[in-house]
Amino acid sequence: MNKEKIIQSLRGMKDIVKEESVDFTYFSKHAARIAANYGFSYIETPILEETALFKRSVGESSDIVNKEMYQFIDKGENDVCLRPEGTAGVVRSFVQNKCDRAGGTYRWFYNGPMFRYERPQKGRLRQFHQFGCEVFGISSVYEDANIIMLVKDILDFFGIGFTLHLNSLGDENCMPQYKEQLINHFTPFKEELCEDCKKRMFINPMRVLDCKNEKCQELIVNAPKITYNLCEKCDSDFNKVKEILDFNKINYLIDTNLVRGLDYYSQTAFEFKSDEIGAQSTIAAGGRYDKLVEYLGGRATPGIGFAMGIERLLELIKKDEEKEDLLYLGAMSEEAQNILTQIASKKRKTQKTHLEYENKNFNKHFKLAQKQGASIIALMGEDEIKNNSIYVKDMKQGTEKNISLEEF
Ligand code: ATP
Ligand code: MG
Repeated sequence: MNKEKIIQSLRGMKDIVKEESVDFTYFSKHAARIAANYGFSYIETPILEETALFKRSVGESSDIVNKEMYQFIDKGENDVCLRPEGTAGVVRSFVQNKCDRAGGTYRWFYNGPMFRYERPQKGRLRQFHQFGCEVFGISSVYEDANIIMLVKDILDFFGIGFTLHLNSLGDENCMPQYKEQLINHFTPFKEELCEDCKKRMFINPMRVLDCKNEKCQELIVNAPKITYNLCEKCDSDFNKVKEILDFNKINYLIDTNLVRGLDYYSQTAFEFKSDEIGAQSTIAAGGRYDKLVEYLGGRATPGIGFAMGIERLLELIKKDEEKEDLLYLGAMSEEAQNILTQIASKKRKTQKTHLEYENKNFNKHFKLAQKQGASIIALMGEDEIKNNSIYVKDMKQGTEKNISLEEF
């Protein structure tokens, strides 16, 4: 018989195994803990949603919706897609669960896989994971600063260095005028813009500012800057955000070309970048989206949030998790094996425990325990059974003794 061909995972999709899975759970655990300290609780929404949800919220001018969605018609002829990002589903859930009608404030975090049909490369996968937070019902700029501080706390905890880029996109008062100015600026050079930007110019001219094309970059240099065109409220809000960050000694760079890839942002927008991971340097991104809940049919509710790409973060984690102490239990006789089964089950209620199934002599157990990095080695043979005791060596302190089973 021919040997069957080994089936590989799809391009741009990978397993999280071995060392990466240790880092992945370590990250998830502490990111969730820090978010909980800020008052966030977990939300999980479906991975598959109606395509219309992303068309409406992320926007038709975005690369995500235009080029990157895993979209298909299901067996019931519904137009569905794998979520490319987390915010749209969370907002849909917020409205569907009538939180917009109930009022009050909501702080939710999520952690899960996202799907984008992109060209895979370092830091760019087709299935990747995002940890993200969303806040509803608070328009205070203190929340903008709070969210930025939360991201900073998470990055600090893992020893990840960053540069914070900050901008204000304006609101429904000043954004339309600014877009008008941009169109006026780019129109004479229309033919020089890249094919994408020729379209973007009319769907959302601010998107041109985000273009990576060299020629477009040149034309952006002299474009009007949003920060000089903010209305009074947006200007004073932006100043207040900066003031709070200054007061908390958080450095930032004003980046007037930071418009974010998604259409629903207004006012505060930010990105955390690392200079250690090459071209795909953005590790967290977010901002305010006060119009999104309304866009999706809910009652007007302010919102703000961010998402971080977990795979990109894992490359940067400096501080490893401290290994939990391991207790090694080994038997030197059949009878001892039975007793150790009982002991293991008790110990496992509070401690990481390895129970060796094979009877071995003292030296062989020791070798195996050390190989596993055990911090406590406990062995039992005929003599120990007679005395109702167990041999215990504490590898950290270097002490060894026989103690009664009861004490153990
Ligand atoms: P980029 O400019 O890198 O394409 P984006 O604007 O598409 O980023 P967002 O939609 O803001 O990214 O997603 C937030 C974060 O999720 C990114 O900063 C990044 O860390 C991560 N991310 C986005 N796309 C991918 C991907 N294809 N693979 C891995 N991580 C990703
Ligand atoms: Mg992208």
